[in-house]
Parts: sequence; structure tokens; C-alpha cells
Amino acid sequence: MDFGDTPAEAAFRAEARAWLEAHAPVKGSPEAFDKMSSPGRSAEEERDLAARARAWQAQLAADGWACLDWPQEYGGRGASTVEAIIFDEEQGRFGVSMSIFMAALSMAAPTLMAWGTDEQKQRFLKPIRRGEIVFAQLFSEPNAGSDLAGLQARAVEDGDEFVVNGQKVWNSYAHLAEWGILLARTNSDVPKHQGLTYFFVKMDSEGLDPRPLRQMTGGAEFNETFLDNVRIPKENVIGGVNNGWAVAQTTLNSERAAVGAQSSVVDVDGLVDLARRQGQGDDPAVRQALAEAWIRSEVLRYLGMRVYTALSQGTEIGPEASIMKILTGDHIRDTSQAAMELLGPDGMLSDDSWVSLMISHFAHKIGGGTPEIQRNVIGERILGLPREPRADKGIPFRELKV
Ligand SMILES: Cc1cc2nc3c(=O)[nH]c(=O)nc-3n(C[C@H](O)[C@H](O)[C@H](O)COP(=O)(O)OP(=O)(O)OC[C@H]3O[C@@H](n4cnc5c(N)ncnc54)[C@H](O)[C@@H]3O)c2cc1C
Repeated sequence: MDFGDTPAEAAFRAEARAWLEAHAPVKGSPEAFDKMSSPGRSAEEERDLAARARAWQAQLAADGWACLDWPQEYGGRGASTVEAIIFDEEQGRFGVSMSIFMAALSMAAPTLMAWGTDEQKQRFLKPIRRGEIVFAQLFSEPNAGSDLAGLQARAVEDGDEFVVNGQKVWNSYAHLAEWGILLARTNSDVPKHQGLTYFFVKMDSEGLDPRPLRQMTGGAEFNETFLDNVRIPKENVIGGVNNGWAVAQTTLNSERAAVGAQSSVVDVDGLVDLARRQGQGDDPAVRQALAEAWIRSEVLRYLGMRVYTALSQGTEIGPEASIMKILTGDHIRDTSQAAMELLGPDGMLSDDSWVSLMISHFAHKIGGGTPEIQRNVIGERILGLPREPRADKGIPFRELKV
């Protein structure tokens, strides 16, 4: 199999690169906005970076480069998955970050396409593509992360609305978002997976309060979010009442693939440059580390193609997304560690981007599902090992001790 560009793909790459060179900010330039989670960034700087990301997404949409592989009826080009990957690869060379749109583009949009009504698709997909809506994912709770189906936020029917009470946590960019995707319990009399409903909720709803959490990176893009009698119209239920677990699988599969596809945050060429600048390009141990970093990035590139091909063919993303997610976390950890060794003790005091990557590598490993959970998926779905024992199987949620 040849993974090089075909002549048509090479022409597409050249066209994309030319457009990006004319419009995208160069990495490290004052116009760049690829440092959304830099240490010590103020709320004002964060709002400025978010505004630039929104303007960039709007420009991509206006010039026909946004959501390339979406169907044309929602504004996409109907381009191939390979073309979408090529554009992302090229865009990754510039000072651009699309992280505030991750929940909108990689969670809300695919979920809407799979489960939304025509009216919901018409209402949300085009504005998402134009960068007009930032979404937040309101799934995790203090007692429900890996065991998401054990969540306790409750939504109670009241006329044409649901009234939601509860607490969510680790909600990326919730303080900047216009809309949230929310999982809440609508029936406690059935086993935990069966009584959940998936909502779109306006983040400026009365009673909804996202509070940023400061992390050890210095950034504060996470939030804990409190919901106190938040009213959601029934028209904002996605995929049917009490069907939320099935709907959430679409979101979670797509999220896992998107988080796993973040290996491009590691600049292997930059690591090689760093080794040269530090005068260590001829050190045998350093050369081993550089070659390993390059091998990991190539393996991840091919795995990414496999996952995106499955997505483009409408096939459910398989456990390869779990493999990719584990390897991406390891790649970010090991490569940033190699960079820290090259920087030496000075690295601990510098604000070099390798330092923030090293500190934030835990986030990449945990977000979208921890390595242990991914290994359980691989054990069950690839190796055919028995499923994990479940003491709560078949027991109504209200009878569980949570
Ligand atoms: C960068 C980042 C972004 C995130 N963004 C969001 C967001 O926008 N919205 C949102 O809702 N959530 C978000 N999260 C939360 C994330 O989904 C959870 O942190 C994750 O699912 C783990 O849940 P937890 O933190 O509750 O850990 P727990 O589930 O309590 O796990 C604790 C430890 O126990 C292990 N463990 C748990 N169950 C098992 C098991 N069955 N077998 C083996 N080991 C197990 C875990 O691997 C882990 O090591 C984000 C997290 C991060 C780090």
C-alpha cells in the first residue's frame, strides 16, 4: 500500500498550502493563536485568542475550507476524508489552534448528523461550521468520569421543558461556550445506562454557572459547572428521551478519535532542531530518542488514516481509536520528556512550549477516557477477554449506592 499523495492529492495539498500561506498566521508570530492553554495566560488574553480562533473558522467557512468532508447541504465540500486529513496536516504547520471548536466540530456535529432531526441539523450545523457556536461537553461529574453512566444530574419533565439540577466538572471552555451538550438522568427506575437523555443546553440559561478551575499548567480552560433548576425546551432533546446512552456513544467515539488525533501537537521536526541548537545532534542517546519520536509520529499518522477512513465510510470507529489514544498520550509524554532533557535544568525555568506540553501531557492521557479504560476496550474488543464484572448490572439506578 502506498501512503504517498496521488497526483490529485498532491495538487490539493499544494492548493491548500498556498491558501494557508496567504491567510494563516505563522507559528510564533504576534497574530498566532495556537497557545490557548499557555501558562499564566490572563482571562483577557484567552478571550482574545478565542476571538481570533472564531474569526479564523469564519474565514475557513467563507473561503470553502471549513468542514471539508461534511455533506454539501450543511456547507461542506463533500470532499474525501483524505483531503480533510491533508488540509489538517497543512494547517497544523501554522500558528492556529482549533481546540475551542473541538466539542462543536468533533462531538456535537457528528452526533447531530447521526441523531438530530432535520430541524435540529438545519438550526445548528451551518453556524457550527462558520465558528459562530462554541460548544462545551457537560458529561463528567465529580462521581462519574470513567463510569459515565453512573451520573447523577437529574432532568425532570415539566410541561414543554425539562428542569435540570446537578453538577458537572472538567468542562473544557464551558466559560466561553454558547451551547453545551448535556447528559442527565430522566429515569432512575431502570438500570443506569437506560435512563439517560442527551440535551443541547444554552450556556447562558438561568441557573447554569460555569466556574473556571486553575490547573498546574497555569491555564484555566476547565470548569466545574453547576445547574440549578435550568430549564431546557423539549425541542433540544437529541435522539429521544431515555436514549441518551446510545446517542452519547456517537459523541464519545468521535471524541476519542479526535483526542487521539492530537499527535500533531508534538513537533518532531522542532525536536530535531532543538537537538541541533543544543549541539547534541551527534549524541548517540539523543539520536535514539529522536528516531523513536519520529517512528511514533509515523505510526500515529497511519492509525489516524485508518480511523478517519472508518469515519468517512460510515463504519463505527473500532478499538483502533483506543490504540491511537493510548499511543498519542505516550508520544506526547516521551517526546516532551526528551525535549526537557535537551533543554537541561534551564528548561524548568523557561516558558518554552515544550515545558507546557510536558506539564499538560496528563491531560492528553486522561481527556476522552483514561489509558486503563482504553486498555479495557482493547482487552474486550480485540483480545476477546471476558467483560469486566458489573455488580450493578440490571439493577435500577435508584437502588444503587452512589
Ligand atoms: C484534558 C481533559 C479534558 C476534559 N474535558 C472534558 C469535557 O469537556 N467535558 C467533560 O464532561 N469531561 C471532560 N474531561 C473529563 C474526563 O472525561 C474524565 O476525567 C475521564 O473520563 C476520567 O474520569 P475521572 O477523572 O472521573 O477519573 P476516574 O473515572 O475516577 O478514574 C480514576 C482512576 O481509576 C481508573 N479506573 C476507573 N475505572 C476503571 C476500570 N473500570 N478499570 C481500570 N481502571 C479504572 C482510571 O483509569 C483512573 O486512573 C476532561 C478531562 C481532561 C483531562
